Amino acid sequence: MISKKMEELGKKPSAIREIFEYSNKRKKEIGAQNVFDFSLGNPNIPAPAEVNETIIKLINERESIDLHGYTSGPGDLNTRTVIANNIKKRFNFEVDFTNIYMTCGAAASLEISLKALCNRGDEVIVLAPYFPEYKVFIENADAKAIEVKCRENDLGIDVSAVKKAITDKTKAIIVNSPNNPSGVVFSKNDIKDLISVLNQYSNRDSGPIYFICDEPYREIVYGNIEVTYVPNLYNETIVCYSYSKSLSLPGERIGYIMVSPLCKNSSDIFAAVCGAGRASGYVCAPSLMQYVVSKCDGLLPDIKKYADNRNLIYNSLTEIGFDVIRPDGAFYLFMKSPIKDAKEFCETAKKFELLLVPSDSFGIEGYVRIAYCVSYEQIEKSIPAFKLLYKEYYK
Ligand code: PLP
Repeated sequence: MISKKMEELGKKPSAIREIFEYSNKRKKEIGAQNVFDFSLGNPNIPAPAEVNETIIKLINERESIDLHGYTSGPGDLNTRTVIANNIKKRFNFEVDFTNIYMTCGAAASLEISLKALCNRGDEVIVLAPYFPEYKVFIENADAKAIEVKCRENDLGIDVSAVKKAITDKTKAIIVNSPNNPSGVVFSKNDIKDLISVLNQYSNRDSGPIYFICDEPYREIVYGNIEVTYVPNLYNETIVCYSYSKSLSLPGERIGYIMVSPLCKNSSDIFAAVCGAGRASGYVCAPSLMQYVVSKCDGLLPDIKKYADNRNLIYNSLTEIGFDVIRPDGAFYLFMKSPIKDAKEFCETAKKFELLLVPSDSFGIEGYVRIAYCVSYEQIEKSIPAFKLLYKEYYK
């Protein structure tokens, strides 16, 4: 008998996967240029040239046996040191390599961190709308996801709702800012208010509530928006970082965990991270990519294309009359469905070849996610289709 739990997970249809398959079918039928697929969060800006140049340089300069060999379990010491120094420089936060664990991207960072922190029956708060894999990782750590809805009007953090959801079993809260799927960057005030609630639990017998920052979109923000660096404000913090979106390297699987040295038992938590990484088979993140990110230290993406896309889609949909949440970061826009049933709305959108993701996949009803990491031309071409979609509901 194999694991029923895993079999079910493997067979469970993912809404985004289904749209992806529908999109491929439609593209074959009517031509790719006539399908407006806004379903996938795959960066469409290429990785900076420096990344490829660094890969070539490393291949030419280093012995293959050394370049492609194992690093230590938590990662290459030099890479971890470079990352710690980068954090010091950028955020004025004191940390060294002993607190950095290299991972296969944010997914692995989250999976490892949750496994390191949680015991059977613990609860982890997630703010809806949220990245659907959180539930999978939390349940895999034998814990339970507790959903707390964001504020209705702006999808900021509803701190009083979080407070109500806290129990003796609350082990952690996952906060993702800039947010997938809403594109919202949580304000410093929201973060501070949340922290003042978490601080009330810092001396519990069952231990503090950990703040898990899921930050694959940290660098993708528009205008003068600040993404609060939580370790500067709250001691019990673990940062799950990834280069997937910031350097457009989602297939290379590279990121890191930073366990704040200010956590009460930071070195024990780091040991638990090493243990969880080991137990999950997540030791030694891809070596070549570890060297690449250390050589490309400080490299930031050119997000002008995303910014142009954001302005075009936000302004166009607002002009048409749709109710949208203004995205300050990531490459997603959240739009209110004119009817309660967002799935039905997405089915209607398909009539106009618009492929959108219903918010039910992200833990709340009544919205759709539009991933605008597509070509500017696709957005331009899709606007008449959005107009027709609007007319279906508001004649
Ligand atoms: N967290 C969020 C909010 C995401 O949107 C994603 C990927 O889309 C991940 C984590 C996983 O990122 P990675 O590709 O680095 O594993």
